[in-house]
Amino acid sequence: MSESQIYQGAATMDKITSLAKRRGFVFQSSEIYGGQNGAWDYGPLGVELKNRIARNWWKEMVQLHDEIVGLDAAILMHPRVWEASGHVENFTDPLVDCKKCKTRFRADQIPPECVSEKKCPECGGELTDTRKFNLMFKTHIGPIESNDDNNVIYLRPETAQGIYVNYKNIIQSNRMKLPFGIAQIGKAFRNEIVTKNFIFRTCEFEQMEMQYFVKPGTDVEWFNEWKKRRWAYYEKLGIKMERLRWHQHGADELAHYAKDAYDIEYLFPMGWKELEGVHNRSQYDLTRHTKYSGKDLQYIDQDDGNKKYIPFIIETSAGLTRTLLMLLCDAYDEEKVADKGVEDDWRTVLRFHPAIAPVTVAVLPLQKKDGLAELARDIRAGLREDFATDYDQGGAIGRRYRRQDEAGTPFCVTVDYETKENGSVTLRFRDSMEQIRLPREELASRLFQEIKAYKRTK
Ligand code: ATP
Repeated sequence: MSESQIYQGAATMDKITSLAKRRGFVFQSSEIYGGQNGAWDYGPLGVELKNRIARNWWKEMVQLHDEIVGLDAAILMHPRVWEASGHVENFTDPLVDCKKCKTRFRADQIPPECVSEKKCPECGGELTDTRKFNLMFKTHIGPIESNDDNNVIYLRPETAQGIYVNYKNIIQSNRMKLPFGIAQIGKAFRNEIVTKNFIFRTCEFEQMEMQYFVKPGTDVEWFNEWKKRRWAYYEKLGIKMERLRWHQHGADELAHYAKDAYDIEYLFPMGWKELEGVHNRSQYDLTRHTKYSGKDLQYIDQDDGNKKYIPFIIETSAGLTRTLLMLLCDAYDEEKVADKGVEDDWRTVLRFHPAIAPVTVAVLPLQKKDGLAELARDIRAGLREDFATDYDQGGAIGRRYRRQDEAGTPFCVTVDYETKENGSVTLRFRDSMEQIRLPREELASRLFQEIKAYKRTK
């Protein structure tokens, strides 16, 4: 299948960006001041979606595994951490500027001949020499205004190091034995040179990382196992699998710490781009932290004659905010429909998996009058302990369905005159637009069932 065939879904970055703003998923940061590059705010639907993605990842990575535990480490860490990790020295992007149009580029993201001929890919003007630019945000801690280097502190550029420096604490507090994992979700900061494509690459973002500590010699096996599991995670979320592929890092792409690395790439409207990295970080990080901290970070293997060694680390590192963008692109669909009670027209629908949809069920009274609104509110009250709910009583019912479709709400419950008579309600399914009637007492259990059994068909 060609890329354009895969992308029949009609999602473009412009459509996604404008829907995200219109419906309150994502706003530009500090918009009234003209916006802040590389930073975005998550609105009412966006924060629900982000929380749900995070919760779902946590379930898949922690709740479903005996040997994986969680952590929430501080964003500010001892500056030596970043010397040990290699970030002070190596976490750089190659940067070039056009002397004529003043555009700034990452030298590795423009055609190589532009760099060698020093020719701007936009205007043909002359490019500067390539310079190395460190991506870490550097600031000072304490009441110091000057550039006193003794008080330098960094905003973490990845969450992983918080896990490595706590690995011994967690072995001791939770009596962990190899192989075991530590998972963490949190903010990371990178002074990205080029931020474009909406929330794809930002200066402030969130990561969902899991570091798996294994016995040397078993690392290749575990690396392959985690590749399989991470692929299965996207399958379970109902992602269009023809839009995912593996990309193995070549020798020139491998990070300073990596023995082997694969990216899971997603076909975004702007092309194939990294979504998540699965890396064999070898013994690099723990060896370096041993050296820089002077602490013994060896594991004592009680199952193997108290042998001491530095474990290998397999990392799965996914962007939370980037996953949110991927899900918006993946869920987006435009469909010509003839809905009940609505003339033939188009609808925009976000086909989120019900487990991550920002609103799971919306309750809609057919009319405001005759006690239907009160009845609908009462039905909603019965659902809100267990589900993320919405209530909407404004406008024609067909239009209200459209609004919920566009927010990705998988289920709508309609309350009408029959509900008053016999307590039955209509349950409408977002994807098929089918409607069934059932007693209101059965709603919650039916919804649980539907969420569990959900299979994306369109
Ligand atoms: P790139 O080479 O594209 O800058 P990377 O390979 O350095 O990215 P990693 O360090 O492997 O990225 O980060 C792991 C994950 O974190 C990425 O797969 C991505 O989902 C997310 N991520 C990294 N940088 C950003 C960013 N600037 N904005 C949003 N998400 C990011």
